[in-house]
This record gives sequence, C-alpha cells and structure tokens, in this order.
Amino acid sequence: MPSYPLLFDLGSAKPTTRDIANTVRVGGTAALTEAERRADQARYQEITCRSALNRVKGMPFEWTLNPYRGCTHGCHYCYARRYHVQFEMNADDEFASMILVKTNFVEVLARELERPSWTGQYIAVGTATDCYQPIEGHYKLTRRAIEALLRRRNPMGVVTKGPMVVRDTDLLVALGKLTTCTVYMSVPTVDERAWELLEPGTAHPLQRLRAVRALVDAGVNAGVLMNPIVPGISSARAKLERTVKTIADHGARFVGCNVMFLEDGTRAHFMKFLEREFPAWLPRYETLYAKKYAPEEYRKQVQGMIRVLQDRYGLTKRENAMRENRTDESREAEQVGFTW
Ligand code: SF4
Repeated sequence: MPSYPLLFDLGSAKPTTRDIANTVRVGGTAALTEAERRADQARYQEITCRSALNRVKGMPFEWTLNPYRGCTHGCHYCYARRYHVQFEMNADDEFASMILVKTNFVEVLARELERPSWTGQYIAVGTATDCYQPIEGHYKLTRRAIEALLRRRNPMGVVTKGPMVVRDTDLLVALGKLTTCTVYMSVPTVDERAWELLEPGTAHPLQRLRAVRALVDAGVNAGVLMNPIVPGISSARAKLERTVKTIADHGARFVGCNVMFLEDGTRAHFMKFLEREFPAWLPRYETLYAKKYAPEEYRKQVQGMIRVLQDRYGLTKRENAMRENRTDESREAEQVGFTW
C-alpha cells in the first residue's frame, strides 16, 4: 500500500475542490486518505463548497445545482465525465468511483437564495451528477436543497435516473403548487441489453418508470427524457417504439429525446467502451461523430420518428392537454427540460 505525505493540513475543516485537485495532482486519488469506501466500492470524499448556485453558459438554463460530483451510475455516454478532469481525476473509472460530497451545500445555498440580488430564476438540479444516486440516501443533500427552494418558492426542474426521487414526493408536490417544479426521469431505452451495456450502475428502466407513475399519481409534473439515444445501440425503430409505448403506459406527462453528443473527455471514454464492446463499429462512429454532434439530418430523422411514436401512443395529446392548463413560465421551463 503506497503512503503519501500529508498534502494539506486543514485541521477539522474539510478540503475544497481546489485542495482536492492539488492533492490528486501530486499523489493520485490514493492520496485522498479520508475518502470513505462504502459497500458499493465507490469512495466518498467530503468537501466544502464556496458556492452552491452555479451559473452556466451555452445551456438552455442559466443556473444549476449539483450537490455531488462524479456519479456511481457510470453511464458510458455521460457528458459530465469530462468535468472530473477539473479535479485532476480521470473521466473513466474515477468519475464513477470517486465521488465528491459537498457537505455544506445546503447552508451555502440557503444563504445564496436570501441575497437581495437573487430574483428567483429557474434552477436545473442535477446537471453534472445524478443528485439521486445511492449516496443521497445517506446525506440527503438533494432533499434539503429542495426544502430550501420550497421555502423561497423557487422554480426548479430535476433530471435523474434515480427512483429515490419518489422519497421527496411531498416536497415536489408542495413546490409544484406554488411554481414550476418538474421531474425529468431519464430513460433512454427500455431495451435490457442496451441498458446493461450503457448504464451499468443505474436502476432498471422499469423501476424508473414506476417512479414516474408514482410521481404523476401524486400530482407531480413528471415525464421522461429519452436522452441520449445512442446510434446502433438504442436507436433501432423497434427499440424506440417499445420505449415510447412503455413510457406512455406508465403515465408520463411528456417525453423528450435527443441523440447522444460526444465532447472531449466523454468522447475518449465512449470510444474505449465501443472498442471493447463493438470494435467493428469504430470506423462508422468516427465518421458519425467527426464533430461533437451527429449530423443534423440523422438527428432530425430520429426525432421525427419519436414524434410519430408520441402521436401513436397518445403522448402528444396528453402533453397538449397539459399545456392548456399551464402558465407561460412553466411552458418555457418545460421546453428547457427537453433539451437537457
Ligand atoms: S446518471 Fe446521469 S450523471 Fe450519472 S453517469 Fe448517468 S448520465 Fe451521468
């Protein structure tokens, strides 16, 4: 077992992300000696954050909240993989096995929401991590953050693959009565093989859809994002049709979809995954993903097919009926969600 000198000495204070990056740069993740290993074999490093609300550019929303960094769900296509590099960790196994936990997150958020300059903008929760990954059951940072948003009647949308979101139904119902509050359950496919290959640490797709059913029955505005559709693995028409039908059968209020995109960091990881599982597809993928996005024509074809299937299984009618009863603000927030 290698040993490393003490790389930071902060007494009882928890390190910041900068401390973490400095430590890992010198000694690798093995130098994070206080990171706790849990039964899921991931390691959890408690940290302190200076800010909770994060302003983003180039996204369809302006503000995000992420109580954790890294994600044990470990989806191979995850665009958040590349963010782990900021902490000097790799976008491969370390993204899914070394999780940073912002223990002072809720207190910092509460202060930020009280600032006179904060005007109650829409907040996207869980954009660089899954805020309902299993460790949330222990820390409850997401639940407490939603409590803070509820106190301020602050509009929000949360995207997740974690059925644990059902635990917070009481808060989501209460917030939804006051302002925009939407749950976007991510279920790219119900195909078993594609799920096992692409999303190794996630709950079964049907378990996620049962969570959608439970939320909708309780009065939460909950729907499904088929994001991302992965060419060749989950894009076959039969798979798309089965997925849309199953989503409709589970009472989702809406469905959105997008084809996978690959940015640096995630791209390298995904290509390694492809080389391992489908080596013959590499040249076709290199062509399809010569740029960040698959060609527009291909994306339009897939989205067109989804629209046809939405009509066929009654989802378009369901969404239209819902829209008629909504405010301009919530309509706008809903569109924002579709592009996640
Ligand atoms: S659940 Fe979301 S954040 Fe987690 S690995 Fe999968 S895509 Fe990334």
